[in-house]
Amino acid sequence: MGIIFTVTEKCKGCYACVRNCPVKAIRVKEGIAGVMEERCVTCGVCINICAIGAREAKSDIGYVRQLLGQSTPVIAALSSAFTAAFPEIRPKQLVSALKKLGFSEVMETAFGAELVCREYGRMVKGNKGKPILSSTCPAVTSLVEKHYPQLIDRLAPIVSPMIAMGRVIKWRYNPEAKVVFIGPCIAKKAEAEDEKVAGVIDAVLTFSELREMLATKEIDLLSEEEEQFSGPRPHLGRLFPVPGALLKLAGISGDTMISDVVVAEGIDRASSCLLEFAQGKVKTKFMDIFFCRGCIDGPAINKSLSLCGRREKIVDYALEDADPARTESDIEQYADIDLSRKFTNRYTVLRTPTEDEINDILRQIGKLKREDQLNCGACGYNSCRELATAVCQGLAEREMCWPYLVNELQNTQDELLRAEKLTSLGQLAASIAHEINNPLTGVLVYTQLLSKKVAGDAFKREQALEYLSKMESEVGRCSRIIRNLLDFARQTEP
Ligand code: SF4
Ligand code: SF4
Repeated sequence: MGIIFTVTEKCKGCYACVRNCPVKAIRVKEGIAGVMEERCVTCGVCINICAIGAREAKSDIGYVRQLLGQSTPVIAALSSAFTAAFPEIRPKQLVSALKKLGFSEVMETAFGAELVCREYGRMVKGNKGKPILSSTCPAVTSLVEKHYPQLIDRLAPIVSPMIAMGRVIKWRYNPEAKVVFIGPCIAKKAEAEDEKVAGVIDAVLTFSELREMLATKEIDLLSEEEEQFSGPRPHLGRLFPVPGALLKLAGISGDTMISDVVVAEGIDRASSCLLEFAQGKVKTKFMDIFFCRGCIDGPAINKSLSLCGRREKIVDYALEDADPARTESDIEQYADIDLSRKFTNRYTVLRTPTEDEINDILRQIGKLKREDQLNCGACGYNSCRELATAVCQGLAEREMCWPYLVNELQNTQDELLRAEKLTSLGQLAASIAHEINNPLTGVLVYTQLLSKKVAGDAFKREQALEYLSKMESEVGRCSRIIRNLLDFARQTEP
């Protein structure tokens, strides 16, 4: 099972996830929308879009509880978005709450951002070659690795702040410790497992998972004391979750008048910028790109505050708890930590169907003619043609087309009605046959008796009249049955 998965018994086949998945990483099979791990960039959009909770992300809660139950120290590395995620408390109250959960120390991943951003500054300023794409957002790096492999060599070969912090802890601060990253991002779960950077982050909890753990332990955040963070101390690295902060921290000018630097945040802008970048339409020397509108808008962050409100929380904390001299000395101490990384080409080819194949599906769903192609989007695809292509590729089913499905249902209903009518007619015919057969049998018996009498010269007039009278009575019965049937048919005529 991948990081993102479908709870099949809950999926109602509404295709909201197909419609909203930015990379069409959903395969519908027998009405159930499953996630294609090889295409999924773990952005978490489908989890938030599914109204009935049929899409989930792998939870690390069980594993973290297990770690906390052992004697090895477990360090919590808090994403710098935490002040926006827990706006109801003072930042350092979270430290004591985490310690109550069993963490030995709580550190700020913002220090990893300090190291990483400086590395960006050096690289971008010294770059005379190809344009560079930032690689701090794991959803973006996945997008490049899985969908734009031609851009892999443009990704900055620098780890994210999370991995940098993991290396600071595991390679220097306390190699014995286990490290649990806690943040707003689901894609970080996949990043921690990426073989190119694996081994420094042992588990990833989202802020939502952390809230769940605190609630289970009945830890009341509001009544916690404030406690100091451990480890190296960040300063403006705390701004990292806000779009554009990387430029500020790296000393790269974002002034549009003098700089060819682009900041692209949010799914739509990130996807379109990347596409244009891949097509060579964007002339830039550096593109800082986030899948969300900054990590302050990550999929697992408390959104009770507006985006501006969350930004304010981050900025306030960065300014109020600053000790720049201490940060500089800590940066010097960890300056030799290797921040490099590589990426993997994970591109999977989707077969391109032929025109004939696409037209065949369009014909089957009654959309061959242009005027029949409603392009209504109910199936989750932008056009009937896109759906037909996806059907050919094994990603979709014809039944996802609502007009086709309604038509099919109508045909099935008509057939059922026809079958029902035929069944009723058969039953009626059988009972009529039975009703008429009885008197006819009587007539037949008396006819045979009469024939025998006449043939054997035993013919008696009175007896013959009696037989004829009985035959008349039976024929009369038949006649009444038929008349009743005719009356009934006239009454029930539509
Ligand atoms: S997590 Fe994102 S990429 Fe993966 S299936 Fe959901 S919406 Fe698509
Ligand atoms: S922008 Fe931040 S929260 Fe969103 S996917 Fe990227 S790293 Fe995760």
